[in-house]
Amino acid sequence: MSRGAKVIVAGAGALGLSVALELARAGCAVTVCDPEGAGRASAVAAGMLAPVFEAALDVEAADHLDLLLAARDLWPELAARTGVVLDRSGAAAVGSEAWLAKVRGRLAGLGVRGADLPRAMLEALAPGVAPGLEAVLVREDWRLDPRPSLAALRGAAHAAGVAFRAEAVTARSDADWLVAATGAGQGLAPLAPELARLTPIKGQILRFAGVRSGPLSLRGEGCYAVAGADGLAVGATMEPGLDDAVVDTVALGPLVEAAGRLFPGLRPASHEASAGVRAATPDGLPLVGRSRTPGVILAAGARRNGWLLAPLVARLVTACVMGRDAGSYATRLDPGRFERGRAA
Ligand SMILES: Cc1cc2nc3c(=O)[nH]c(=O)nc-3n(C[C@H](O)[C@H](O)[C@H](O)COP(=O)(O)OP(=O)(O)OC[C@H]3O[C@@H](n4cnc5c(N)ncnc54)[C@H](O)[C@@H]3O)c2cc1C
Repeated sequence: MSRGAKVIVAGAGALGLSVALELARAGCAVTVCDPEGAGRASAVAAGMLAPVFEAALDVEAADHLDLLLAARDLWPELAARTGVVLDRSGAAAVGSEAWLAKVRGRLAGLGVRGADLPRAMLEALAPGVAPGLEAVLVREDWRLDPRPSLAALRGAAHAAGVAFRAEAVTARSDADWLVAATGAGQGLAPLAPELARLTPIKGQILRFAGVRSGPLSLRGEGCYAVAGADGLAVGATMEPGLDDAVVDTVALGPLVEAAGRLFPGLRPASHEASAGVRAATPDGLPLVGRSRTPGVILAAGARRNGWLLAPLVARLVTACVMGRDAGSYATRLDPGRFERGRAA
């Protein structure tokens, strides 16, 4: 298949929009369909592009630093083309000396050297941070603001000729390819059976409107905190097995407490909570590439790193449609990898 292929992309989240844009640039006739208009998980996410701290702090990502860094390295070009604003100030682990010693050990295990931040500098970069906490800075982790970034990706896709329809996809119809970028949705599982490998992980996040904070993303004990256009976002719960996006104040309790430990001044402030559902595979990496159903391609299951992985997923899907060799990452993300493992 080559230029001019007719492609339907199901899903207008970070993955679907990035894929659609890349395919349109490659000369495909692309239509994005999503009954909700915009990505579900993508809109509530924190927007960290965090290869290092994800690999250091999330056991599922520990073996994937190279792939996460490769995805991050594709962001500057995508941002320049779309108007997505990247913040490259870095990220800091902030906590007690004992916890930071563990974090330093994990960074060292990854071959990453964090820099100890003097307390005065931490206070300047993260005003309001709790007294007594110390910090380790890494420059490798970046971030973006998800909602404006979704709008920028959509605008760029539109300008590149992508058509949009507010409807659910149920079939490939007359398209050459159907790309299932449906997040945690299972509606296309009859067509793309590999989607049944995905399990949901509900995530809730707090947004403190009007709270100004510094440029660093902060990774604390029990929460992270990032600044956005609409205030400070503090996330996030990890609730495996739940696939509803209903705010649950009981489950949010520990997150609210962790936020207060990091920024004591936040306690009395009002916050809004929102929830999204991440889709996860058994190895923490997404399903990207051809389904065993002819004409169907998967781009789903990015767990905690959908924003980070979006440009890499877009490259791999486009290579698939264009019949190009997509390289070694394509093998690691191949949707059939779990079936092969079972047969062995
Ligand atoms: C609280 C929280 C914080 C997060 N923070 C980060 C972060 O800091 N950094 C990061 O990289 N990632 C983060 N993530 C993860 C990230 O949000 C997801 O990995 C990413 O958004 C997944 O994007 P997606 O396009 O696959 O799915 P979604 O954004 O969920 O989009 C899928 C879309 O598909 C549509 N759809 C479903 N079925 C159909 C159908 N049959 N036809 C058409 N459309 C359909 C849905 O309506 C939906 O809009 C976070 C997630 C959560 C919940």
